Amino acid sequence: MSLNALLISTYEMGRQPFGLASPAAWLRQAGVDVRCLDLSIDPLDTEVIRAADLVAFYVPMHMGTRMAVPIIEQVHRINPQAHLCCYGLYAPVSKDYLRRLGVDTVLGGEFETGLVSLAQRLSNSGNGTANHEEAAINWQPEPLISVDRQDFLVPNRAGLPDLGRYANLITGDGQHLNVGYTEASRGCKHLCKHCPVVPVYEGRFRIVQHEVVLADIRQQVTGGAQHITFGDPDFLNGPGHAMPVVAALHQEFPNLTYDVTIKVEHLLKHRQHLKTLKETGCLFITSAVESFDNRILTIFDKNHTRASFETALNLCREIDLALVPTFVAFTPWTTIAGYRDFLAQIIRLGLVDQVSPIQCAIRLLIPPGSWLLAMPEAENLVEGLDEAKLSYVWRNPDPRVDALQADLEYLVQSCAAQQIPRREVFRRIWERTHQEIGDPAGNVPFPNLPPSSRFVPYLTEPWYC
Ligand code: SF4
Repeated sequence: MSLNALLISTYEMGRQPFGLASPAAWLRQAGVDVRCLDLSIDPLDTEVIRAADLVAFYVPMHMGTRMAVPIIEQVHRINPQAHLCCYGLYAPVSKDYLRRLGVDTVLGGEFETGLVSLAQRLSNSGNGTANHEEAAINWQPEPLISVDRQDFLVPNRAGLPDLGRYANLITGDGQHLNVGYTEASRGCKHLCKHCPVVPVYEGRFRIVQHEVVLADIRQQVTGGAQHITFGDPDFLNGPGHAMPVVAALHQEFPNLTYDVTIKVEHLLKHRQHLKTLKETGCLFITSAVESFDNRILTIFDKNHTRASFETALNLCREIDLALVPTFVAFTPWTTIAGYRDFLAQIIRLGLVDQVSPIQCAIRLLIPPGSWLLAMPEAENLVEGLDEAKLSYVWRNPDPRVDALQADLEYLVQSCAAQQIPRREVFRRIWERTHQEIGDPAGNVPFPNLPPSSRFVPYLTEPWYC
């Protein structure tokens, strides 16, 4: 196939993008000449853009999509003849906005097959699409969202920056380990109302074949990986697939460590697997706990409670497996009392060293297509869509909550820039919270925390978005 394709990623939380390496393998196998550009590491290469017939942007997350917008406009100016495509989780829900920017083809869900189809279409028609307006009006033959099962190829990581240039893992003895990234599945079988996976996969998940996952890990270990992050939205959606993967990983690489993301409900339901995770090298489990407020957990349809999270935390602690919770600390339903309680629970549960400070300032994103929009609880709180921000505007009924969130986000970012330790950042969050709500910190002194009993390894890119 005579076609030059350029795959671009803008930001994937400090990971070498699976979303470039996987389609690169498919397109190269189809005979396409593929270049990959990770703009989180390397600059935009004007010559490569000029040479491309197809420029495809990987948009798996909110921040990466927003960062892609000015690049799409720039690429359009540099090479107006190139066919532009966006693929990944955020592409179909933002399709109208992306098409107005000049994007011709939008692919969501299992996108590799669609990208190969697009490349074949362009190759057959003499490459590129000069008439973007026509492309935007005409129906694209590839489905906007596909959840068809795919026979994956081993991701082709040729041309991507070395792993050493991405986020590291900080270990207890102060080492910085190179981190690889792979996916053993995509999508999710759950339907949490606030989750961006849901509008695309609608309760389905798709596995990456066992031997492909292993081969991808193998090539990343050869490339210097000392730790692997599994990016599956939930690693235990299919334990019959996931557990043999980590058993094989450990058998082949006994010193390799890894981390996974697992929801509270699965930590309880599949508790029999926790020990195996620990024994096969799992260093920590990230879990989207979101809130300690049972009302908010019900609105989100998380299928766990404050109490069940505590049970899951204790199960992990019993086997010395670190559980790293993430939160959506600020929502339209967050109250001042609820936020104070949230901070108090982090202290009570001994989580100050395990929670990245940014988690205390995260504000709920309601992207286009969010299932939250249909919830009666959201009816009077959510305003119109801010297309450029790829999010619906909402305000908390108590303006002090929104003001506190903005202030804490700034505080956390300033502390990150100065590399202030987590405990000190948390103390400042506590004090600022009590000052802002007219409750001087002197009246609610920050408690003396016991010395940390165990260091929890963490990645140097703490954003979850
Ligand atoms: S929040 Fe997690 S468990 Fe819920 S739908 Fe999203 S990926 Fe699945």
